[in-house]
Amino acid sequence: MELQISPLGQSEVINEETPTDRFIAWTLERFASQRMIMTSSFGMEGCALIDMYARHGQPVTVVYLDTMFFFPETYKLRDRLVQRYPHIEFVNRGTTLTPEEQARLHGDELWKHNPTLCCKLRKVDPMFPVMAEADVWVTGLRRGQSSTRANLRLIDWDWQYQVLKISPLVKWDRKQIWEYVKQNDVPYNELHERGYPTVGCTHCTTPVEGVAPGEYSRAGRWAGTEKTECGLHGGAGI
Ligand code: SF4
Repeated sequence: MELQISPLGQSEVINEETPTDRFIAWTLERFASQRMIMTSSFGMEGCALIDMYARHGQPVTVVYLDTMFFFPETYKLRDRLVQRYPHIEFVNRGTTLTPEEQARLHGDELWKHNPTLCCKLRKVDPMFPVMAEADVWVTGLRRGQSSTRANLRLIDWDWQYQVLKISPLVKWDRKQIWEYVKQNDVPYNELHERGYPTVGCTHCTTPVEGVAPGEYSRAGRWAGTEKTECGLHGGAGI
């Protein structure tokens, strides 16, 4: 995708060759009058992206969906990010369905017998009202994260949530993310140093042996099942 749009009145080509920092500045200019929301599950990529946007000094809203099954280390990281980036607004739009109510309605340990429904209730469905209030959705997704993300575009249309979806880190690899995080002293989840390349819910995330923080693997997510994605990023591209 290539766009020749400049909010400054000059012709500027925006495409995948545009340096990430310039691309981020462009998104802030281009969509200044629109409702732009970044979402994050506080993965390493999301933390790096929050830092990249924060550097521009403009208010940005970061929405996260607290599933009520986060690791204590993830809440700790959230608090460190809030402290580090005071002009970024962090908003929890997670489900109000308590684990007890979920168990009453759908049975104990739903994540074991129907993780797709559990993710729908705790992630996919709560995102609809968030995206209904957004025109532009900024994510920290990368193509290299999984085969289902291999065709991700820098700017895309998300059919599931009906918003413009922007992924500035689409071409980055995990090593680059790790270097950025270290060089810029970006807060990250301490679990990455304890064998967790990615961090989701406690019930569905396990450490992956031999994977360093600068390496990526989704093998620890829903391990032992066919499931690889929670369903938030299920929309097909155009
Ligand atoms: S990751 Fe696991 S516990 Fe979390 S919402 Fe999905 S199935 Fe439920």
